[in-house]
Amino acid sequence: MKKIIALTLALMLTVCCLAGCGGGEANENTLTMATNAEFPPFEYLEGEEIVGADVDIANAIAEKLGKTLEITNIDFDAALTGAATGKYDVAIAGVTATDERRQNMGFTDDYYTASQAIIVTADSAIKSAADLTGKTVSCQEGTTGEQYLLDNGYSVQSFKTGAEAISALTAGKVDAVVIDDAVARALSSKQEGKTVVLDEALTEEAYAIVTKLGNDELIAEINGALAELKAEGKLAEIFEKYELPYDAE
Ligand code: GLN
Repeated sequence: MKKIIALTLALMLTVCCLAGCGGGEANENTLTMATNAEFPPFEYLEGEEIVGADVDIANAIAEKLGKTLEITNIDFDAALTGAATGKYDVAIAGVTATDERRQNMGFTDDYYTASQAIIVTADSAIKSAADLTGKTVSCQEGTTGEQYLLDNGYSVQSFKTGAEAISALTAGKVDAVVIDDAVARALSSKQEGKTVVLDEALTEEAYAIVTKLGNDELIAEINGALAELKAEGKLAEIFEKYELPYDAE
C-alpha cells in the first residue's frame, strides 16, 4: 500500500514538473525569461548560445533567487506580451520602462540608462537630428525608437531586427536608422566603416525588467537582487565586460 502511495506521489510530482517546463510561473525553481537575441551587446547569438549583458544580469539574478534561468528567444514585441501575460516570468531585452508600457506590464527598478541614436552612412549629409526632416528612417518594430520616429512625423520603415534596419540603410533604401545608442554602436561597428553613429542623444530612457502587471512579489525579489548586484559592483563588472558605459553613481 505504502509503495503504491509513494509511486502515485512520484508520478504526480513528475507530471507537475513536466507541466512546469512549459514556461510561466508554474515551476518555482525556474525563472523563465523571454528575450530577443538581436540586440548586441545586451542579447545576441554566439553560435547557438544566447549571450550578452542582459543574459549575465539574468543569470546573476536567478542565482540570487535560487532559481534556474530558462531563456526563450522570440520577437521583441512577443517578449513584451509574453511577460505581460505571464507566459514568461520576465522579459529582459533592453526594455525601456515607459509610462505607456506601465499601463499593462510590471517593471522592476531601472538597471541601465540609454537613449536613441541615429546611424547614417559615412558619406551622409545628415549630421544631426535636425537634418532628418523629410527623411525616411528605419528602426526596430515595437520599440521606443519606432515610437520616437512616429511621434516626430518621420516616414518610418520598421523591421523585426536592428540588423535588418541597418541593412536597409547600407542598401540605400532609407536615409538613417534610429535605435538604442549602445546597440547602434555595436551594429555600426560591424559595417566596416560604411556607417557612423551621430553623437546626439534623441531621448533619455531607462531599461528595466518586465513582469506581469501586479506581480509585486517577483518585482520585489528582483529589485532586492538588483540592489545587491549593484552594491557588490557586479553590475558595473558586467557592463564593463561588454564595453557598455556605466555610471555606477
Ligand atoms: N529600448 C528599446 C525599447 O524598449 C529597444 C529594445 C529592443 O529592441 N530590444 O523599445
